Parts: sequence; C-alpha cells; structure tokens
Amino acid sequence: MATCENYTILRKLGTGGFADVFLARNDNDQSICALKVIVKNSGFNEEFEAYIQKEIDTMKDLHHNYILNLVDSNMNAVYKRNTGAAYDVCFMALELAHEGDLFDYILQTNPFSEELVRYYLHQMVEAFDYMNQKGITHRDLKPENLLFDSEFNIKVSDFGWASRQARNTSNAGTLNYMAPEIKMQETYSPYPADIFSLGILLFTMVAKHPPFSMPDTQDKYYKVLVSNRSDLFWKYHTKRKPSGLDYFSESFRDLITQMLQLDPVTRPSLAEIKSHEWFNLPIPSKQ
Ligand code: ADP
Ligand code: MG
Ligand code: MG
Repeated sequence: MATCENYTILRKLGTGGFADVFLARNDNDQSICALKVIVKNSGFNEEFEAYIQKEIDTMKDLHHNYILNLVDSNMNAVYKRNTGAAYDVCFMALELAHEGDLFDYILQTNPFSEELVRYYLHQMVEAFDYMNQKGITHRDLKPENLLFDSEFNIKVSDFGWASRQARNTSNAGTLNYMAPEIKMQETYSPYPADIFSLGILLFTMVAKHPPFSMPDTQDKYYKVLVSNRSDLFWKYHTKRKPSGLDYFSESFRDLITQMLQLDPVTRPSLAEIKSHEWFNLPIPSKQ
C-alpha cells in the first residue's frame, strides 16, 4: 500500500494542474479523506511553495456548507509508493466529495435542465457571497473545481488561484473560463472576473460545452455577444443543438448575456444575480 505520513492511499480520485488527488484513510482515526498531493519535483521552488501555502491558508479561513473543507495539511511530507520509491511532497487532506467533480457529469449526463442549473446557482451564489464577505475571490471557477458531496450538494474547491486583493494583475485561471480583462493582462478587479467565469459555467452546464474557444475579443461569437446583436450569439448556439431553439429560456439568456459582458463594470454583482427574474423562478426540491 502506498502511504503518505499517517495516511494510507486507497486509489486515485483525480488529477489537476499540479496535484494528484487520492482517496485515503487516516490511520490514526480510520477516517476517509481526499489527499491532494503535490510532489516537490525539480520545478518546485520558493514561489511554488508560497502558492501552496497560500492555498492552505485560504482554505483554513473558509468554513461553509458549499465550500470544500480542509482537514489537515503538511508542507514537508514523504509519499511512499508500494514499489518502495519515496518522494518529498506537500499535501492537503480534504473533505471527500463522494460524487466527484462537475466536469465528469457534464461529459457523462444529458444537459442539465435550467431548473437544476438554478438549484446549483443558488448554492454557488451562497458560497461566493460568503467568500467575498471574507474578501476572497476564487479566480479559477470551472467544472473541474466544483465537486459534489454524497447528497449532490456543491462543494467549491481548488483555491490555488484565490486572491485577497481588490486589484490583480496576475494571470489566473483557465482559458475557456477566463474573463477577457485577465486575458488582456490588464489590472482587474477579481470580483467581476469570477462573475464572468460563473456565466460561462451556467452556459456550459446547459450546452455541455463552453461558449467560446477563447474568451478574448478575437472570438467571433464573443464579439457578437458583447455587441448589440447578442441575439445572433444565442441563435448560433441554439442552432447547434438538435433540440432546437428552446434550450435556453429568454430569461436565462438575459442573465448569461449580462454576466458575460466585456466591460466588467456592467456585469451584475451577486446581489443583482439574486434579484434577477431567472434566479427567482422555482427550484427543484432537494435532489
Ligand atoms: P489542482 O489544483 O491541481 O487543479 P484540484 O484540487 O482541482 O487540483 O483537484 C484535481 C481533481 O481531483 C479535481 O478536479 C477532482 O476531480 C479531484 N478532487 C479534488 N478534490 C477532491 C475531493 N475532495 N473529493 C473528490 N475528488 C476530488
Ligand atoms: Mg483544479
Ligand atoms: Mg489548483
């Protein structure tokens, strides 16, 4: 059995940009967790160490039903494989999200109904409201970083790019979900940048693919969206589905169009999202 300090590794759960995540058992109390392991390979330097430490510190500050909980961490641990090979690592022991990440569901299942997307938007808005009240933005919102617990509640995870600054200049996040002001390397406020990513996410949950190949002004459909012809954008995207024109309701299109505006100032705040018509339509009772 592979081990990492007092954890026995049971199987792999996922891989991210930097980390491998394993299902693991804490040998002290037999509890089960997700162990996020970062190997200190040749690329590991002080800057990377500070990045991991920041991720840990951010998570320590966040305790919310819809945010993944950190239970333990270690910056100087040893990961031993069953072959006997040993590696210096950092790890985070995380609450296990039994049902894995949203990315897998988008790939495997039928498109989410708008009702179900709304159900999850309510949970995400609660999580982001809480985070924002603590002055924290996420900056890497995408399906791979949204997990489900055993009752299919959202657990926002992966705070590697999270920020406590009101203004940022650094590149953060993942291209298809990235706000254009980040892509254009301007100084930006991370709050509306998160709203943009959330808008892409809402679109993707229904369409099963993100709306732009790249969220920059070069994308034809991006230009169409932010021009006063956003109707063409929606026409294009609804044509791609055999189910026809109805697959985004008018009210849902309106919300997403607002969230994907080029000018961050014109995007709705969380409070404005909460007062949008679509947000206040019925949600399914507990899944
Ligand atoms: P990275 O920072 O390298 O992107 P993540 O924290 O996003 O790493 O984890 C990578 C993947 O591992 C996730 O996309 C998900 O599939 C899986 N994963 C991460 N944390 C958990 C968890 N607590 N429970 C179950 N699966 C997880
Ligand atoms: Mg990730
Ligand atoms: Mg990360």
